[in-house]
Amino acid sequence: MDTMNRLKKDLIETGSFGRTPPKRIERYDQLDPRQGVTRPAGTEENRKIRDYAVERMKEAGLTVKIDKIGNIFGRKEGSKTNTGTVMSGSHLDSALNGGMFDGALGVFSAIEAIRRMNDEGFENERPLEVVVFTAEEGSAFSPTILASSVLVGEMSIDEAWNRKNATGQTLGEVLENIGYKDSFERSLDDVEYFIETHVEQGPILDKEGISVGVVENIAGMMWLMLTILGAENHAGSTPMTMRHDALVAAADIVSFVNKRANDLVAKSGAATVGTVGRLNVFPNGGNIIPGRVEMVIDIRDVIWENMESLKNEALKTARDIETNTGSVSARN
Ligand SMILES: [Zn+2]
Repeated sequence: MDTMNRLKKDLIETGSFGRTPPKRIERYDQLDPRQGVTRPAGTEENRKIRDYAVERMKEAGLTVKIDKIGNIFGRKEGSKTNTGTVMSGSHLDSALNGGMFDGALGVFSAIEAIRRMNDEGFENERPLEVVVFTAEEGSAFSPTILASSVLVGEMSIDEAWNRKNATGQTLGEVLENIGYKDSFERSLDDVEYFIETHVEQGPILDKEGISVGVVENIAGMMWLMLTILGAENHAGSTPMTMRHDALVAAADIVSFVNKRANDLVAKSGAATVGTVGRLNVFPNGGNIIPGRVEMVIDIRDVIWENMESLKNEALKTARDIETNTGSVSARN
């Protein structure tokens, strides 16, 4: 089987794991955005794709080890012992109704690279290692990038084991259930290069018909949580001139964030994105003037100053609304 078909086979096979109803997707036009794959960390479907990857790793001659938090490492030693490791991989858990290439592409393309070297009799000097990170998506256990956080020492193993999913099981328990809690301890000190192939997470390459892009920056993210306080009152009996409507104030802030982010992009070519994706309106009654609104403003950019400036302007807008309306107040 040629290289492309071998990788394609892995992606098609594993793309059926966690798909309800079960279906093999063989062509791009068969993909249905409403029927993705669901295989959160520690589920039976997650075990299936892990087992599949481990089999492929072993077939490719890799030595497979599992660490305490279920990360999988498949290693091929190099001919020189004094050089750093080249590591490549991604994750095999998925978002709920996630994409079949998300994570899987990075893992199976790394395995394919090893197979290709084997085919061609290429002798690697550096050690090569394929890695699968546990619980990257946060779809069962928060936060996201959970086990890679443990690996780099940002989270303790006990804290990670004790994270609970929606049904109250701990990550330690579910990893034990699926047979992916072992004892390997991996320090990353020897890793000199890391390569992750990942399906595009936005629409740009696809729209422009470009097959591969190289990530130059990873965007920072900032959440601004605001509570807008107004005065709850009856929608029928309160005259327009005597209202302190928290949702009207919130709407102004939503519009401002969107407009200002667009301005930054248009004027300076910034990569800024600003979104209000969550509004909780209280009491949320059809005939009641909203007295309180909670909102989350999500701001991202590759340049910190741009995020700071959008945050400060959003706060200023909130303060201006407070000044102009008298009793509407915004708190963050
Ligand atoms: Zn991913």
